Amino acid sequence: MAMWNPWRGCRRVSEGCKFCYVHQGDQKRKMNTNEIVKLPQFDAPVKKVNGVYKIPAGRKVFVCFSSDFFIEEADDWRPACWQMIKERQDLQFIFLTKRIERFYEVIPDDWQTGYENVQIGCSVENQQQVEQRLAFFQTLPIKKKSVICQPLIEAVQLEEYLPGMAEVIVGGEYHKAARPLDYQWVLDIREQCIRQNVNFDFRQCGTNFIKDEKIYHLTYKQLTAQAKKADINWRAH
Ligand code: SF4
Repeated sequence: MAMWNPWRGCRRVSEGCKFCYVHQGDQKRKMNTNEIVKLPQFDAPVKKVNGVYKIPAGRKVFVCFSSDFFIEEADDWRPACWQMIKERQDLQFIFLTKRIERFYEVIPDDWQTGYENVQIGCSVENQQQVEQRLAFFQTLPIKKKSVICQPLIEAVQLEEYLPGMAEVIVGGEYHKAARPLDYQWVLDIREQCIRQNVNFDFRQCGTNFIKDEKIYHLTYKQLTAQAKKADINWRAH
């Protein structure tokens, strides 16, 4: 696995951004997250040492973990990124977005039915975003699609949008004032995935986690550990 952050910074766009980890981290470092800045590692996928690519073939490359790949301020930079993605057919690029509505403005001219080596995750935190973002996402030509319900802040019905999705990832929010995650919401989504034969991953609990009507306050370490312990991931067949 490799990380590629061609730029950094992001603006909040919806409820799920309230306790965004990028903003939280930047606040501590006294950095302005709303300023979108191109980074020195912009061309990392095509960087070579002694004629050999620094990122070895076969890797998964997670893109824009301190921004949103579809953010408006990066419109002039993104075409060069698509070129690099095209050059590295031997890598699998993965990014998540809360700006899927920009899809047709930002894909390259030769996208057609999607690049084989690009996986896109659409983030939805509540029913409103399911109706807006997933309804649109479902119609798009993308080779591999993920649904990211993290942070999940209410129960959601998304089953009608699951056909064609590769996976659904669910998780709670991490913050001392986090909105609670009810385990029942997680189990409900799991059932929807099973009915539609879509992979399901419970990635993390929330700092404030409700199970059997009791609220638990979890540490950062417990978030993934407890989700793993629940052992409810499900694989399509
Ligand atoms: S879109 Fe993502 S990176 Fe940008 S503010 Fe929202 S949560 Fe943070």
